[in-house]
Amino acid sequence: MSSEPQRVLFIGGLGRSGTTLIEKMLNELPGTFAVGETLHLWERGVRDEERCGCGEPFATCPHWSKVGELAFEGWDNVDTDRVIDLRWKIDRSRRLPSILAKHREGATGLDAEQQEYLDYLRPVLLASAEISGAEVLLDSSKHLSTAALLALDPALDVRVLHITRDPRGVAYSWTKQIDRPEAEGSLMPTYKPSRTATRWVTDNLGFDSLAKLGVPTLRLRYEDVLTEPAVRLREIFDFAGLTSAGGDNVDLPFLDGKSVTLTTPMHSVAGNPLRFGGDDITLRLDDAWRSKLDEKAKATVTRITRPVLTRYGYKP
Ligand SMILES: [Zn+2]
Repeated sequence: MSSEPQRVLFIGGLGRSGTTLIEKMLNELPGTFAVGETLHLWERGVRDEERCGCGEPFATCPHWSKVGELAFEGWDNVDTDRVIDLRWKIDRSRRLPSILAKHREGATGLDAEQQEYLDYLRPVLLASAEISGAEVLLDSSKHLSTAALLALDPALDVRVLHITRDPRGVAYSWTKQIDRPEAEGSLMPTYKPSRTATRWVTDNLGFDSLAKLGVPTLRLRYEDVLTEPAVRLREIFDFAGLTSAGGDNVDLPFLDGKSVTLTTPMHSVAGNPLRFGGDDITLRLDDAWRSKLDEKAKATVTRITRPVLTRYGYKP
């Protein structure tokens, strides 16, 4: 293991903002490796043994078995209840003020529980990097609190890819019922448009605060990634420091105009069902919300997000 901090591209933003598709495209290059949502690893992976993105249950997935061995000499040695307890205590939005305070103070003096939590997350990331040989890990936890915590760890060089999407599209997506294929019979949660709109405002402003506190951040609109994928993907790879592949001149063999061929298996735990499949995808703007989100809901979302809508490049 090198003494350089391990580069981690943290994919941040509100769920249903197109982050899974972006993660899959970024995962296609040999220098990257998608670990999925480390936030949910402990409950959905280690404890519940849900299916990994590769299709295997967590316990028999070759990647995660090796990570368990390398990081903890076996997952059995991890006090799963304790990590999950820590996650619910520390890694959540309401604890952000205390995490951001550590960034202001210069990242020293983490409290004991924050340190303990990072002592579980860090070995998982470092082991994933060692096993995969990847230069850049992709963590798609999305949550601001997870990004802010990981960025406090000196062994990690965390860079945040902050993805935004039109809040009316995000709100519409959270009203739809979607199956969770990794856990049969269960559905992804649904949320009311007003709740999504409030989260949209607080989450995006929160990522901006983290950037102001010095965490390297690249903010992109999902819509722009779909409109000019080659330009935007190169911008991301360059930002992530994927130097081995040639930075902003990197080859994108999986991309042909607006068509992407995604063949690299994902060992990501938790996340959008899209991570299980979809080898050939045509990139196009999904604006079903324009006709399918009712006018009242559209107006509600626009009203709540209006103060910051144009800041992120969206029209009221
Ligand atoms: Zn797997």
